[in-house]
Parts: sequence; C-alpha cells; structure tokens
Amino acid sequence: MRILIADDQPLDRTVLKMTLEKWGYEVVEAEDGTEAMKILNGESPPGLAILDWMMPGLTGPEICLELRYQERQRYTYIMLLSAKDDKEDLVRGMAAGADDYVSKPVDLHELQVRLRAGKRILELQEELIATREELRVQATRDFLTGISNRASIMEKFDAEAHRSTREGTSLAVLMCDIDHFKHINDTHGHPVGDAVLKDIAQRMKSTVRPYDSVGRFGGEEFLVLCPGTDAAGGAALAERLRTVVASTPVVTGRARVQVSVSIGVAARIFENTDELSQLISEADTALYAAKRNGRNCIEIAPASTPV
Ligand SMILES: [Mg+2]
Repeated sequence: MRILIADDQPLDRTVLKMTLEKWGYEVVEAEDGTEAMKILNGESPPGLAILDWMMPGLTGPEICLELRYQERQRYTYIMLLSAKDDKEDLVRGMAAGADDYVSKPVDLHELQVRLRAGKRILELQEELIATREELRVQATRDFLTGISNRASIMEKFDAEAHRSTREGTSLAVLMCDIDHFKHINDTHGHPVGDAVLKDIAQRMKSTVRPYDSVGRFGGEEFLVLCPGTDAAGGAALAERLRTVVASTPVVTGRARVQVSVSIGVAARIFENTDELSQLISEADTALYAAKRNGRNCIEIAPASTPV
C-alpha cells in the first residue's frame, strides 16, 4: 500500500519514511502542503496520507477540508500529525475531515497499530466499491445471455428516443424473434434451448454496429436499437442479423439446431415525445407480419419514415 508523508521537517520525514518502508509500505514524500495537495490530486494518489499539521503552503487541516469538499471517487484516509496537544486542536482537525490523529513525537508502536486500522478501512471500502459495481452490472444484464435485460434496454430506448427527438435524427428499432422456439425446446430439451438463446444473443451482439444496442426483450425476443438510422438502414441491419442466424446451425454438445429469426423493423424521426412508445409497437406489428409471411424474413413497419 502507498502512503503519502507530508512534513516540512526533513528529519521527521526521513525517520517516518524509513520506518514505514521497514513495515512494508511504499512511501511518497511531500515537503510542504502545496506539494502534498498536488500529489493527492494527481493520477493514482496514495490511499492513505499522513499530514503534518503545520506546513508552508497548506496546513494539514486545510488539505483535509479541500479533499473532503471534492467528493472524490476513492476515499483518502487522512492521519494528522502534530506537536499540538491541545484537545481543541484535535477536535478542529477531526472536524476538517481527518480520520485519525497522532501526536509528535510519534510513538512508532502506536502509529503502526493505527496504520493497520486505516489500511483495513481502505480495504473494506475497495470491497464495497467492487461489490456495488458488480451489483450494478448484474442489475442491467440478462442472467442467461449476458446481454442487456429488458429493463436496461428499455432505459436505453428511452434515452435514445429522447435524444433523437432533440436532435431531429431517425431512430430504428428491430424486434427479433426466434422462429419456432417452443419446438426447439420440445424437441431438444431446455438446456439446448438455453444454448440457442445464448448463441443467438452473441451472434446479434457481434453483428450490430458499436453504437447499436441489443437486449433480451422477452423469452426468445430481442430488441435492437439503432440510433441515427432510418428504415433503409434498419432493414439492412435486420437482413444481416437474419442471415447471420440462418447461415450456420447452433451446435451444442448434444444437438445441431438450425435456427432462424423473424424481424420487424420500425424507424422514424419523432415529432414529439408522445410518439416514443408507438415505435416499439410498430416494430412488434411488423414482426407479426414477418411471421405470417413465412418466418426467416424481415418486415418493415408501414408507418416508418419513408426512405
Ligand atoms: Mg511542520
């Protein structure tokens, strides 16, 4: 773990540095408050800072106040160091946002114990951040296919639809449904059905453009959002998706399954935000037309903005 030592007394600084290094910490030094602030605001700052109270430039408590005011993504654990023994000073230091306080001359045993406590708090915080990030990802992913789930793709749709209304650009949506999926499940069993869903989701994801989004809309239904795309562009992408699914069978341990998808395409430039939800139902209606037309084909919604 990296620790910043900021102290204007070269001797104090050197003794601390040598001691901390002996304990296995990596030390970064600053000889005044200004340099300390620069290091803490720099790239990959140390997680823990031992700040002398009185320093030229900025004092320890001033650095605390500034850091706490910033609402940083990563917490910096701050230990103030001072010859002041006054209880009132201690209270002021903690009120400035310090986590701990060590009196000078430093009792090394005490410092070692307190550093361990600080290190533990920082480690717990790292774990919390990692868990929160994992939960965030889980909440937006479909557990089976790993692509966006329904809530997440609808949230993206809302954002893209509003953006296209604002910018006056066309938005295309593709509603894709695996043909005869129930039959696949009935014939080969659910594990094969799941493998088909995963495989098709990956094929779709790797076929769309980087700025498009794919989500699992329902059981065997996928929704694709194509920002800045008109009906012709949406139809071209739909045809690529249809081909990429139909061209090679899905091969799983036990089976080789020929799969196809039907796709409904709808696109428009929104006049106002009341029309947003219509786009998806238009794509849905077009999808049913594709099913009626024999499946493994695409259909463009009649209301879509003329090409
Ligand atoms: Mg000093």
